[in-house]
Amino acid sequence: MKMKMKIDFHVHVTPPEIIKNWRKYAKKEKYFALLSKNPHNKYAVAEDVIAVLDESRFDRAVIFGFAFKDQGLCRFVNDYVIEKVRRFPGKLTGFISVSPNEKGAEKEIERCYAAGLKGIGELYPDGQGFNIDDKKETHVLTGACIERNIPLILHVNEPVGHYYAGKNNIPLKKIEQFVINSQNLKMILAHFGGGILFYETMKEIKEKFRNVYYDTSATPFLYDSRIYNAVKALGLCEKILFGSDFPLLPQLRYLPAMEESALSAVEKQLILGANAEKLLKC
Ligand SMILES: [Zn+2]
Repeated sequence: MKMKMKIDFHVHVTPPEIIKNWRKYAKKEKYFALLSKNPHNKYAVAEDVIAVLDESRFDRAVIFGFAFKDQGLCRFVNDYVIEKVRRFPGKLTGFISVSPNEKGAEKEIERCYAAGLKGIGELYPDGQGFNIDDKKETHVLTGACIERNIPLILHVNEPVGHYYAGKNNIPLKKIEQFVINSQNLKMILAHFGGGILFYETMKEIKEKFRNVYYDTSATPFLYDSRIYNAVKALGLCEKILFGSDFPLLPQLRYLPAMEESALSAVEKQLILGANAEKLLKC
């Protein structure tokens, strides 16, 4: 195996204009308001990402703007991502923010894809108000991804445990339906898919979830190092992508738990970059 390339697959960036005037944007966007008003909320510009990659000795980050309900705001953050990916092509890969149910979704995906962005996400079905299990509401999105062979990152959180801003109540059953409806779509279920990965021990789920990946984002706030042992026992190391959720957490915060776990050196390499490299073809 070549490398050791380290890739962070889950990094949020926000244009300075939105950071400066977040209150103005929060007025029209309920989900953005919920996250922004959280006293623990942090913002990062692309240059912060470059700095933290250097500090953590990571090679590349997948960056994306906030997934707003309003298509115009999605367009605005996409312009920022496009600009920064062009400025730092050796370090940044950009994903597309889109509001799947609003007018112009397909056009925006096409525009950003043509401008060099490589995937879509992180989208928030709850925050953006689309029904993930309803084909009529998702077919534009999934069709656009499949047609271009680009992956989609979807926010999924665990249905149990403590509440935090942005935690939603989408039943795992609906996520299963979305996967079943989108069989050829490569998708990444964020935050270990809210635990749905456990069901890959069921034969029919394993088969239906063959194009599903999971990322590690927010893990230090949710699980202890045994999550990595579980992944290993489930035989899923080739489906796990390292994601930090920066600026929520820097990459380095994740490494002690991985070190403590029973993951082999090769399995760590898969999670830290090899799986992502394959998926992004970078
Ligand atoms: Zn998320």
